[in-house]
Amino acid sequence: MRKTKEIRVGKIFIGGDWPITVQTMTKTDSHDVRKTVEQVKELEKLSADIVRISIPDLDCVKTIREVKKETSVPIVADIHFDYKIAIESIKAGVDKVRINPGNIGAKWKVREIAKVAKDYNVPIRVGANSGSLKKEYLSKYDGDFANALVESALDEIRILESVGFEDIVVALKSSDVLTTIRANQLISQKVDYPLHLGITEAGPSLFGTIKSSLGIGYLLLQGIGNTIRVSLSDEPEREVIVGRLILRSIGLEEGVEIVSCPTCSRTEIDVIEVAKLVFERTIHIKKKLKIAVMGCIVNGIGESENADIGIAGVRNGAVLFKDGKIIGTFSEEEALNELLKYIETISHPEVERPS
Ligand code: SF4
Repeated sequence: MRKTKEIRVGKIFIGGDWPITVQTMTKTDSHDVRKTVEQVKELEKLSADIVRISIPDLDCVKTIREVKKETSVPIVADIHFDYKIAIESIKAGVDKVRINPGNIGAKWKVREIAKVAKDYNVPIRVGANSGSLKKEYLSKYDGDFANALVESALDEIRILESVGFEDIVVALKSSDVLTTIRANQLISQKVDYPLHLGITEAGPSLFGTIKSSLGIGYLLLQGIGNTIRVSLSDEPEREVIVGRLILRSIGLEEGVEIVSCPTCSRTEIDVIEVAKLVFERTIHIKKKLKIAVMGCIVNGIGESENADIGIAGVRNGAVLFKDGKIIGTFSEEEALNELLKYIETISHPEVERPS
């Protein structure tokens, strides 16, 4: 993995040798304190590492205070246009701020934010997004978005560095996968700040998932990227799930692997529903574990032998396997309950961090 600085965001770290973190954003109206707090709680349960909240005006700062009181997941305030909102958010206890120096206005306002952030030990995420990139950068590079994104981000970084502020995370995002890949490859050769990866406005759930998996996954496989956000036109829970699965698919995080058959006319149990339920109950578990869900015993025995626990359909019920051995024959409902009970016993959401 590319060596970067280590940045503390509340109780977690981004960069250095720390595991890649998964972020998402709340999608509630940030003026609505209760709904926003409840959404953050749900995301925390699902093991989101960091949650970002849009703070469009000073009134929403009260939501940060309440979220911080009732949850322990690190919170990022997403600020545009008004430097005072960033300063008040930091004072309200936010763990990181994301600003776009381009729309904050005069450089002294960005420097003011940096000064307060330094006093409170709060990092700042800067960077560029293809949707809000200034035309001057694009014309300088003749419409080449990747280079324009890099130059825009470097200018933002320089403003912060000019006041001695280096507690920085950088993000370069485009809705185009190849542009995002190239921009991050370029910036990773120029700075050693941790990189926040994401395909911005990636689209509806399925298409956005594929674009994000390819873009984020490709960069991570090259050792580039320290924290990820999957941006979908869908619930934030879905973004966290996809983020975690990207990390697990390329071996950057341990988790539960579900081996389930595609079903056919031999199927004796509702594999699709059982596999879905097992998936929902295990997505937050960060332990290496294999669970088999098989429609019949044709392949069920073989797969279950390799699994820590497995269920396979038989006539009028299901058998359960544990560590390769049949532990009993049950009705489908009983077998499922036993399987879920087992999952409950291993369901501890702590993340192991390097010492
Ligand atoms: Fe069909 Fe059984 Fe194979 Fe599932 S495990 S696809 S039910 S033969």
